[in-house]
Amino acid sequence: MTEISEGRLSSRVRNLQPSAIRRMLAASSRPGMISFAGGLPAPELFDVSELQEAAGAVLSRNSHSALQYGATEGVIGLREELVQIMNRRGLRTDVDKIIVTTGAQQALELIGKVILDKGDVVLVERPTYTTAIQTFRLCGANVLGVDSDNDGLRTDALERKILELRYQGLRPRMIYVIPNFSNPAGWLTSIERRRLIAEVAVRQKVLVVEDDPYGDIYFGSPPAPPIYAFADKSKESAPWFCYLGSLSKIVAPGLRIGWAVLPSDLVQPITIAKQGSDLQGSTYTQYVAQYYLRSGRLPEHLLMIRKAYSERCKLLSEALRRNLGHRVEYLQPKGGLFVWVKLLNDINAEDVVEKAIAHGVVYVPGGPFYSDNPNLDTLRLTFATAQQGDIEEGTRRLAAVLCVEPRA
Ligand code: PMP
Repeated sequence: MTEISEGRLSSRVRNLQPSAIRRMLAASSRPGMISFAGGLPAPELFDVSELQEAAGAVLSRNSHSALQYGATEGVIGLREELVQIMNRRGLRTDVDKIIVTTGAQQALELIGKVILDKGDVVLVERPTYTTAIQTFRLCGANVLGVDSDNDGLRTDALERKILELRYQGLRPRMIYVIPNFSNPAGWLTSIERRRLIAEVAVRQKVLVVEDDPYGDIYFGSPPAPPIYAFADKSKESAPWFCYLGSLSKIVAPGLRIGWAVLPSDLVQPITIAKQGSDLQGSTYTQYVAQYYLRSGRLPEHLLMIRKAYSERCKLLSEALRRNLGHRVEYLQPKGGLFVWVKLLNDINAEDVVEKAIAHGVVYVPGGPFYSDNPNLDTLRLTFATAQQGDIEEGTRRLAAVLCVEPRA
């Protein structure tokens, strides 16, 4: 890394580390490397012909408005389509509460900017999305993990932690959760936990931010409705729920279309913060997304990607069982793009990653997915972009590195 002169950086960024995932992605592109790292959707599954059609139609029919500046909140026709998506996911809302963002990532940043002061506490699952941890820290937050299990965030631990923090004079301001097929853990928050998280949020007056880029990628039945949908309709409940969606994993990340369903009182502050950040998202890709969603093509496309990812997930799970079965534990994912693996032989996944790269296989060590007290014997694998033949060979290479004899 280039050396940076003393005192040059703000205190906000001084201690930030480059993302471990980006480092692993660099290794992924080496010749002959089998990569289970990264979290990219599979490019061969993009709906290129329909998107091409949408892009062409937008330029021939709506070029003046699609190439012009637009409203900070987003293109109204797209927001109407997003209301329909939310209805299908079990949350009734209206366009006035939806803001289109440059990926869900920007929504995380804007919410952080708008509600967090230096030292405020954000509570997250253990483990959670590493870039969310970094984003909230950049907003000055103290990010703390709450014990979680295969049903998601443990609500008994959550409420206890909130009360303890208050007793210490700290301000818990946000509960950040990924209820559907979490990145990295792959777990699905149970319906009962959703209800309990909603109750804790209202009782303790803490904003729940639920981040849901993977909910439509389910392999069996669809997930329960969003936590937001468990809020009762009272005035007391309304301010404590916020839902983030994204087209990145279900259509294409290059469009950079995400959205936030916000409590009414946050709509204006978030809009002002977005103006200061980028004025607006790309009008052009919003029009393309609007055209694509209106074409009615998405449900069929989702069927296709669910099938493809579910097959890849099965291949990886079976290969893990065959080649590393007695040395690892993992939860069979019911959707999403990831398998979260715990090493049973006390190996530190960070220590062996260089050895793995030398053996031609790369994964993401689990440490960066923890805000505090990392479990270093964990790692994240993605099946999304691994090619069929590579999955078997990749797990054999992993087994060799983790000193396990693959079974015949
Ligand atoms: N949240 C989670 C949990 C993610 O995994 C990602 C992408 N990896 C994002 C948010 C950001 O997605 P985007 O900005 O592309 O919508």
